[in-house]
Amino acid sequence: MDLYEHQAKELFAEYGVPVPAGRVAKTPEEARAIAAEFAAAGSPRVVVKAQVKTGGRGKAGGVKLADGPEAAAEHARAILGMDIRGHTVGKVLVEQASDIAEEYYFSFLLDRANRTFLSIASREGGMDIEEVAATQPEAVAKVPIAALVGIDAARAREIAVAANLPAEVVDGAADLITRLWRLFVERDATLVEVNPMIRTGDGGVAALDAKVTLDDNAAFRQDQARFADPAGVDSLEARAKEKGLGYVKLDGQVGIIGNGAGLVMSTLDVVAYAGEGLNGGVRPANFLDIGGGASAEVMANGLEIVLSDPDVRSVFVNVFGGITSCDAVANGIVHAVELLAERGERVERPVVVRLDGNNSAEGREILAAARIPVVEQVETMDDAARRAAELAAAAKGD
Ligand code: GDP
Ligand code: MN
Repeated sequence: MDLYEHQAKELFAEYGVPVPAGRVAKTPEEARAIAAEFAAAGSPRVVVKAQVKTGGRGKAGGVKLADGPEAAAEHARAILGMDIRGHTVGKVLVEQASDIAEEYYFSFLLDRANRTFLSIASREGGMDIEEVAATQPEAVAKVPIAALVGIDAARAREIAVAANLPAEVVDGAADLITRLWRLFVERDATLVEVNPMIRTGDGGVAALDAKVTLDDNAAFRQDQARFADPAGVDSLEARAKEKGLGYVKLDGQVGIIGNGAGLVMSTLDVVAYAGEGLNGGVRPANFLDIGGGASAEVMANGLEIVLSDPDVRSVFVNVFGGITSCDAVANGIVHAVELLAERGERVERPVVVRLDGNNSAEGREILAAARIPVVEQVETMDDAARRAAELAAAAKGD
């Protein structure tokens, strides 16, 4: 579960990590009132920040400085309702503005590939860390953390030094890092990211932005319900979860449905590759793993979720028949299209299907015999990805 910035900052505060004072507003009037309180306390400058579970808010115009209550209300009016990478802004965080001397980057994450935890720290913060890693790899320190050893004050200092942070902030940064590690472990997080971590004008270190992902598998021993927000979560993800589907919304145009997480992951890669440079770039719109049993109902639910995304211009169903054979999947697709029509959701966008593996010949015949106008079969994964990307590119901007 991803937390909103304001929720992540509440957690930070519970662990003694310095964060700017702030409160959440759902209307411009609330934003004005919060800013007025700060002004009355002697801090008229505030920052109004879109609360959406995606990055790059600043670039999208979702982070604005205001010199008082009126400006705060005005910015809130502009930001509320804004669409940031497919997320509609329903609330803003109104925070006391910080005096930024320098911006750094810090994160803890689960490094699945190396079966360890990893800290990433850099003197270059505020911007996209992937970009820093690509252009100035030497400026990014990656320090693995053994789960059984963890972080103590000395290790935290090593990280700050490895990141080449200025000597005068090493102690402050190390303290922040130690506290974040405690949060990471005790709250079963899989990601804690601070970008930027700042040096303030008076030499302090604080977390100006906060991103936390909690491990859903630990929900049974954590109080994660306090962070639930049915109105604000990406409703598609919430609906998919209710139906037991592993769906993650991405920001592209090709809907992806596959069976098995590994296959879906590689499908994302081939579609991204095929879509490069097509009509300004075409990318996968989502991750959706329908799992092993691709019954008609599961397929219908999957198609319905994927097609509910207005950005989707084509769908790529990529199935490798194993225990569930391709004829069953093909019947699933045929019935899914019928089921959707019954639900009043006629499938009108093109669906490219690639069936391979167990009983693929039978599956292809069933699908061909059904003569569904929007369904097109392509034999190989690469060709199918290319076709789905082309169809999406052709329909883009409609
Ligand atoms: P993101 O774009 O979603 O990562 O949002 P951030 O919270 O990281 O804010 C983006 C940028 O806005 C930061 O890197 C800062 O440069 C700027 N910013 C945010 N809060 C403040 C503030 O209180 N004072 C000043 N001067 N700049 C801020
Ligand atoms: Mn940020």
